[in-house]
Amino acid sequence: MTDLLLVFPNNRSRAYGALAATVAAISAPVQLGLTAAFARKAGLSVAVLDADAENLDPAGTAARVASARPLLVLLSTDSLNSGDVTKMAAASDTLRAIKAAAPGLPVAVEGVVPSAFPEQMLREEGADFVVQGEAYQQVVDLVGALKTGKPRPEEPVLGVWWLEGDKVATSQRPPLVKDPDQIPFVAWDLLPMDKYRAHHWHCFDDLGRRQPYASIYTNLGCPYTCTFCNVNVVYGKANFRPRTPENVVEEIDLLVKRYRVRNLRIVDNVFTIKPDLCEKLCDLIIRRGYDLNIWVYARVETVKTLGLLQKMKKAGINWVAYGIEAASEKVRDAVDKGSSEQVIDKAIELTRQAGIHIVGNFIFGLPEDDRDSMRRSFDMAKQYNFEYANFYAAMAYPGTELHDYARKEGIELPKTWAGYGQYSEDALPMSTRYLKPAEVLRFRDEAFVEYNTNPRYLEMMRAKFGQQAVDYIREILKIKLRRKLLEAG
Ligand code: SF4
Repeated sequence: MTDLLLVFPNNRSRAYGALAATVAAISAPVQLGLTAAFARKAGLSVAVLDADAENLDPAGTAARVASARPLLVLLSTDSLNSGDVTKMAAASDTLRAIKAAAPGLPVAVEGVVPSAFPEQMLREEGADFVVQGEAYQQVVDLVGALKTGKPRPEEPVLGVWWLEGDKVATSQRPPLVKDPDQIPFVAWDLLPMDKYRAHHWHCFDDLGRRQPYASIYTNLGCPYTCTFCNVNVVYGKANFRPRTPENVVEEIDLLVKRYRVRNLRIVDNVFTIKPDLCEKLCDLIIRRGYDLNIWVYARVETVKTLGLLQKMKKAGINWVAYGIEAASEKVRDAVDKGSSEQVIDKAIELTRQAGIHIVGNFIFGLPEDDRDSMRRSFDMAKQYNFEYANFYAAMAYPGTELHDYARKEGIELPKTWAGYGQYSEDALPMSTRYLKPAEVLRFRDEAFVEYNTNPRYLEMMRAKFGQQAVDYIREILKIKLRRKLLEAG
């Protein structure tokens, strides 16, 4: 019998709506892959079912789980360094389907929402166990306890919650793993590597080469505290833990040599926090001569020198995504993202000089946003004419300060997990002090179309990536997102 079956549930069509079939990326579940590797190294027999990559619905996933009949199922609800909560909708449906197909089979859940609301996961979602925090040793200890019966409240498994009758049995989270070099590489051999597909914009230079694709991390956590962001919920606090560049490059080597990976996403929240480590990693990659197409997230304050950016470009980092969020300083300050306009401008200028493409990320509908400030954010994106712009509607994600604020202010929150999905038909953004959720969502959807049909943008894209990129953008625009909120009038 397999000790541990890790399941990444599928919510592609709910999270991405009409974009799911061909446009949305399919990314490896890095957190799940790390947990699998850790458990295997600790001596457990481990299997993985990436239902998202295999596009299995909850019933199909449950059938596979029932026939595998492991000692414990672990449902992973998001990926590493991620604030994504939309996977919860799929986790919830999959959990119910497993309970119907394999009654009595213990199911644990882990991730952002389970870490934020463990009791709710037990009482409302019907999970047998919740793993709060980083799911490494906890999972090994939980399987150990299940091998001899079940965990007992007098011998708690650190970070694991369950119900004893009507009472919640729990214990404090274990400390964070201090040195990520001690975590084994992702169990790539257990993942369906042929299924992963890069974001379309990441491959604008060659849209026929979106596969193979992998994700890797060089650091864990984020030292910043933006109030709308929940990337640190799993860790319990703001933190920053880097791997050594030597350790990272060994894993890249494996991905390149064994899986022929060219497209690589670095899933750090801020890749550039420690410039010396970035530089060292880039040197190691350059020395090995890989042909990589990498994208990273960075924060504008951490990008200070042209030299670093030039080295990043040489190592194959062709795209940097900056979270600019809003043009108005007042709007940014209110969510603790106080980057100044000069700093933003400087980072963009240096990145362009280095020849790196930019993804500009913006959020519409933050608490201080009104129509005028949202328009200023959009005009800023247009002015910079980024190679790609992500426009999000502000969501009060569980575990964030913004979520607490929304509750305190009586702001309507989504009633289903799918309501937090940016591209979901159920999407329900926050209202701002001046705008209703529908006004924010409509503005976001219209901004996306206006940006991508702007002649100046299309001209720049044609010059940089050729007609194929422009044609692809036009194809995407034909896909209409369904929004129940807007249909309701
Ligand atoms: S910089 Fe802010 S938005 Fe970005 S990951 Fe860190 S806390 Fe989240």
